[in-house]
Amino acid sequence: MKKNFVAVLAVILMISGVALFLQQRQQVEAETTRQPGNLRVVSTNSIIDDMVKQVGGDKVTAYSIVKRGTDPHEYEPQPTDITATADADVVFYNGLQLETGGNGWFKKLVKASKKDFDEDVFAASQGVTVRYLTTNRHEADPHAWLDLANGQQYVETISRVLQQKDPENAAFYQKNARAYQAKLAKLHQSSQAKFAKLPANQRLLVTSEGAFKYFAAAYQIQAAYIWEVNTESQGTPEQMQAVVKKIRQSNVKNLFVETSVSPKSMQKLSQETDLPIKATLYTDSLGAAGSTGATYYQMMHWNLTKIYQGLANS
Ligand SMILES: [Zn+2]
Repeated sequence: MKKNFVAVLAVILMISGVALFLQQRQQVEAETTRQPGNLRVVSTNSIIDDMVKQVGGDKVTAYSIVKRGTDPHEYEPQPTDITATADADVVFYNGLQLETGGNGWFKKLVKASKKDFDEDVFAASQGVTVRYLTTNRHEADPHAWLDLANGQQYVETISRVLQQKDPENAAFYQKNARAYQAKLAKLHQSSQAKFAKLPANQRLLVTSEGAFKYFAAAYQIQAAYIWEVNTESQGTPEQMQAVVKKIRQSNVKNLFVETSVSPKSMQKLSQETDLPIKATLYTDSLGAAGSTGATYYQMMHWNLTKIYQGLANS
């Protein structure tokens, strides 16, 4: 009797396991709306995913592992992510230690999906000038894309890899990449010219995470923050004290918060310093479709506009 029960239970578990697998597979298919003959491209986050779509157009089927609005530093890959990555022709990640939180979730995912670095897995940040964390100079700061010149470099790498993997459509990828890079370059140059006119004592940007090192260098401002990188503890009394001190020594009029972090610490800082939170910025993730940060271009346009207004106090 007991044996039968165990056997029946085993069959039930097996059937539900297969059903779950098929269900997850269907979900991946639906999310990626796979086209036959298309290059299947998986990216670790929504920003790289958007760049892939701009270059790849209808020749690629793109899938983003970390969804819009979610922090890419720490992430727990879902079964659908493993299926999509295993099925991919190309996988892009940011690199510069963005995907190393949660005990290196991305490395584990690559291994579980039986992919190889440099063969089918590529760092989109290849070729950018690396900046390092202030608290740990051995660790790269991952937020290179917040400088539009680096964004153009990401597009260059994505275009090169897509051309290698799908030589038949090389001219198509190249043409899209050139047009997209020109659009990014235009926004980059006009923003640099605008920021150059800000008074020197009004160039301090205050955010929760210290994600703006590359941005600060590109647009000639200073960046202050509560914590340096999202993998740290966030909003400790020491961190709050340090940033309050910096704010009091400066002429800053507005604070900013990011979409992919909890706003609690910045709200507390706002109360303590009596400064308003001017806007929510997109740093580590795109906004939802239809939002002001739905694409990489839009998120940068929004960030540059709001930060300029905040610093100029206009
Ligand atoms: Zn970050």
